[in-house]
Amino acid sequence: MSSYYELEIDKIKEMILKKQYKRILLQMPQGMLDTPLQEVVEILTPLGSQIIVEGDPSYGVCDLAINKAIQFECDLLIHFGHNEFGFHQRIHSKSLDILLIPSYVNFEISSYFLLLSEKLAELGWNKVGLVATIQHLRNLKELKTHLDSIGINCFVQKEGQILGCNINTIRGFPNQVDGIISLHAGYFHTYGLLLSTPIPILQLDPFTGEIKQFSAIEREKLIRKRNHIITQARTANVWGIIGSSKLGQHHPYTVSRIEKILQDHNKSKILLIAENINLENLENFTWVDAWVDSACPRLAIDDHIYSSKPIVTFKEFLYLFEKVTWEELLTTGFF
Ligand code: SF4
Repeated sequence: MSSYYELEIDKIKEMILKKQYKRILLQMPQGMLDTPLQEVVEILTPLGSQIIVEGDPSYGVCDLAINKAIQFECDLLIHFGHNEFGFHQRIHSKSLDILLIPSYVNFEISSYFLLLSEKLAELGWNKVGLVATIQHLRNLKELKTHLDSIGINCFVQKEGQILGCNINTIRGFPNQVDGIISLHAGYFHTYGLLLSTPIPILQLDPFTGEIKQFSAIEREKLIRKRNHIITQARTANVWGIIGSSKLGQHHPYTVSRIEKILQDHNKSKILLIAENINLENLENFTWVDAWVDSACPRLAIDDHIYSSKPIVTFKEFLYLFEKVTWEELLTTGFF
């Protein structure tokens, strides 16, 4: 059995044996499609249910494959890698049982305690806010216990969870925290944090073991970049609105607000709806001057995503049309 992720196999087996499901759809993030998926399939297949695997990428609980599961007459959807955080209202279906398995990562965070303690001493941080993505919430608890034991004052809101599009758990940190320690992989959540708070960030990436420090300079660079993109979009006459048919990324109120603002300013617009937004396909819309992203903010924010036309977030769009101020963006975040 994979020792890297906690896949809660006993819980899954118990549920399947109790309810005798006919057909089960498994949905996993791309990073789990190798050994973890193979192991789950091998364990579940002998239980008698037909197993189907979701082949489209899964980035969050926002893309829960409920519609696909219903279309293929599944009676159970098992979604790995995320929990209900931020999407609680949308995770229900009358005809389908849904099981969310967060898949916590078994990471030996204690082997980084010394390094982290030295870093905190070097930075002179005595009060820290703690956050993590779902897979690392257990490690966050261990980290808090350790930091408490060495006299660091720790603040954790709720469980400390953040999403790429929801970092509200940092909002309750007292102004006096010296910094935020975040357990997450990659750069997207770092961007979310930097674009939402001037508090310095220390990121421990549990997949690489790297500890990275982000301070005012990195935030400033990112803000300058966003400002450049916003400025490019300022002269746009034809706006493309990026919408999504994904359950948790479909925001009809946001879309109709964008449409109303564009109409009030005599701008042309086209609403694009896709399940998975294909950025190469966006390049075909040569007549669109700028895009506003009403779906996942990653499309606008991720600098690994190339678009020849500016893509702004909804909040940046509101700023462009003077519905929010620059100061509001700086204090409440860019998305
Ligand atoms: S950041 Fe994007 S992919 Fe992640 S949960 Fe939010 S909408 Fe979904």
